[in-house]
Amino acid sequence: MAIIGIDLGTTNSLAACWRDGRLELIPGEDGEVLFPSAVGYVEGEGFLVGAAAKERLLTHPDDTVASFKCFMGTAKEYSLGGRAYTPMELSAMVLERLRRNAERVLQEEIEEAIVTVPAYFNDRQRSDTKKAAQVAGLKVERLINEPSAAALAYRMAAGQEDRTLIVFDFGGGTLDLSYVECFENVIEIVAVAGDNHLGGDDIDRAIQSYFCRENGLVEERLPLEELARIRHLAEQCKCALASGGRADMELTVGGKACRAPLTEDILFELCMPLFGKMKQLFLHLLEDADSRVSRIDDLVMVGGSSRLGVVKRFLSELLGKEPVVLDETDRVVALGAGIYAGIRRRGEEIRDMLLTDVCPFTLGIGIRNRSGQDKNVLSPMIERNSTLPASCRNRFVTTGDYQREILVKIYQGEEYYVDDNVYLGEVAIEVALKPAGQAWVDVQFTYDINGILHVSVENEMGERRQILLANQALSAEELERYTKEMEKIMLPPIEQPENREMLARFLAYFEESTGERRERIGAMIGSITQGLCSGRKKAVRNAWETARAWLSILEESRETKEERLFDGRVSYDWYEEEGWDDEDESRDGGKEDWDSKDENRNDSEEGCDSGREPERRERESGQREEDCENRE
Ligand code: ADP
Ligand code: MG
Repeated sequence: MAIIGIDLGTTNSLAACWRDGRLELIPGEDGEVLFPSAVGYVEGEGFLVGAAAKERLLTHPDDTVASFKCFMGTAKEYSLGGRAYTPMELSAMVLERLRRNAERVLQEEIEEAIVTVPAYFNDRQRSDTKKAAQVAGLKVERLINEPSAAALAYRMAAGQEDRTLIVFDFGGGTLDLSYVECFENVIEIVAVAGDNHLGGDDIDRAIQSYFCRENGLVEERLPLEELARIRHLAEQCKCALASGGRADMELTVGGKACRAPLTEDILFELCMPLFGKMKQLFLHLLEDADSRVSRIDDLVMVGGSSRLGVVKRFLSELLGKEPVVLDETDRVVALGAGIYAGIRRRGEEIRDMLLTDVCPFTLGIGIRNRSGQDKNVLSPMIERNSTLPASCRNRFVTTGDYQREILVKIYQGEEYYVDDNVYLGEVAIEVALKPAGQAWVDVQFTYDINGILHVSVENEMGERRQILLANQALSAEELERYTKEMEKIMLPPIEQPENREMLARFLAYFEESTGERRERIGAMIGSITQGLCSGRKKAVRNAWETARAWLSILEESRETKEERLFDGRVSYDWYEEEGWDDEDESRDGGKEDWDSKDENRNDSEEGCDSGREPERRERESGQREEDCENRE
């Protein structure tokens, strides 16, 4: 029984696996590894999937569909052969074909698949992807983000040293950016940003419109088939132009010979609106990662559209550095998924060893709106781009006098009003009968790497209600196992025994010191605490290294009872060498992160609290009283 990795792409899908110690891409019957994600229907013959369907896209646009992944997780329907199909069902047909290919090539039954999804996919989209795999006869234990897979493949190709990357995955329908820290044996996705409707297709469309404009054709009046031919030509010329030079577009439309030149400069102009969106995504990403361009070691370009010279040119200008373009950019994600499949098959502990992921969307609960409006607003618990696993606890108070119960409604999304976000579930709990604002509950959210959310609500009498929200239905045993695992995660690093003990030692030093030394120890405690609170693996590691270095100095100075380590030459040298100087980038990076994280946190606390009105009706959650140990 084999495990394969699948890149289920908007435009193309691929499968990869490990065989005899080597990573391989699995070819289809036509010998090609790129399998177009297209489905068609032929009267009397049935379904066509892959290249054959892509071919017919041109001639039979009415009974051929593609790019359905853009609508994954929605109820959109595509009609084929007189029946309606959802994006989930169409994806299942593609996956089923990939499974059969793999079984033919590997001569083995495929037991399981690791399927990649855009980092920006929400729970519904992820859940539908899993369903599609199930329908295709594949078990999917875990979905991984496409950029995580790309980072894994990049590491394999570029070596294992510590690096900070931005993975730029530019495919047919989507653009995904991820900020990735690689250190030791960890790949940590720190932040993601993306657009599910920005890809090579948009470039094709821009070229198509340009061609029509140049030839006085009105797009809206052209028959579908003609448009499809122009689009096809646009894509061909775009690809021909990928490595520079020019490509001349020529086509007879409605009996009229049409032509238009396509050069790099023209294409650059045509792509301008897309570049504007890209720039916004970069800003968004760097802001969320609390970083800046100078801290990035490599920009790694993956996805078919990354082959375009104009995109590379734009990125070099934007970032002031040359991007790294991996060979065959459109296969990188599948290779990463294949590596992952290999690790999984060997039964190694993937979670700790290789990848940590982020939660791509905010999870929170609905609370009363202070402005007096009837609509409830979202109070974020786990912010988007939190490193997983993440856990966060907050206290909420009642908003009605003597209200009996609080209803905690759970949502996912970035919108202000809860109604504009995705509703996930709810938990109700009784509260103490008290005037408004005096009874409270503690709400704890714990979100793990498998995309399972555990919400636990505890009232002041110590009663607890909980709910586990998962993409797939869980059996009773699974429920129990996950709940146990969640209990472990619920203890954030700052509360773990070894960390508490370490902090206690610093507190003791603080107590016995005076003056400047005391101040320094105080600052140290602040930054170590910040590091532990952040939940980011790298920050936790930095905090530990810093703590260890300082503890040994403090211990030494205590033994010799000499304050000179802080005032004299010796301590000053150490201070500079070890990178505590403000100029030092690497160490300072971590330190600054912590500081600015702190500011953010205060901001968001304030932001959350303002504009909230105590609630008058029963059965609604109240306002946030305070944040405790937000592990971000
Ligand atoms: P997805 O991940 O969305 O399935 P891919 O990574 O396979 O997509 O990329 C598909 C996109 O890449 C298409 O828009 C295609 O036109 C584009 N593409 C493929 N080869 C080239 C090339 N040589 N030059 C420019 N674009 C290309
Ligand atoms: Mg892709």
